[in-house]
Amino acid sequence: GDVRVIHLQESIQRAVSLAEAEANYYSHLICYEPESEELYVRMDRDKLVQVLLNLLKNAFDAMPEPGTVTITSSRSDEWCTIEVMDTGTGMSEQELQQIFNPFFTTKETGTGLGLSICHKIMNDHGGSIEVQSREQHGTVFRMTLPLATGAQ
Ligand code: ADP
Ligand code: MG
Repeated sequence: GDVRVIHLQESIQRAVSLAEAEANYYSHLICYEPESEELYVRMDRDKLVQVLLNLLKNAFDAMPEPGTVTITSSRSDEWCTIEVMDTGTGMSEQELQQIFNPFFTTKETGTGLGLSICHKIMNDHGGSIEVQSREQHGTVFRMTLPLATGAQ
């Protein structure tokens, strides 16, 4: 892939823009307020956008209309964290244990590939993805990536 130093907030904004039409179609809201400190990561930008689109699409599917997906990004030391939080149905413990497995889906027309691809992309870039969920309340996907430093 095309790995380079990319601007995190700009990449998130790109994914939000691409998802906006579908959000509107479902009367969902995407809430993203970029933080002021500019953050840079070393990553294939298209793949980061793909991860975020997968998460946004899953959130749209999980939320009764109208729902809100909130995206935040933050920094701690040499890492940045991106959170994608929805107001959806949440998942049971049993579902949570399987969601990153290829072909696990609870949808009639799902492929079950989205989250396994997200997991692989984050790992391939030295990052991670984890999930917290409460049934009937919602779900948060939390991703971490190493910040790009001047030396890279
Ligand atoms: P697909 O969307 O094709 O089903 P994914 O790998 O994207 O495949 O997701 C796997 C499963 O994880 C979904 O079928 C759904 O059961 C669950 N899931 C993923 N994201 C969410 C979410 N935000 N809220 C509730 N369930 C989710
Ligand atoms: Mg999906």
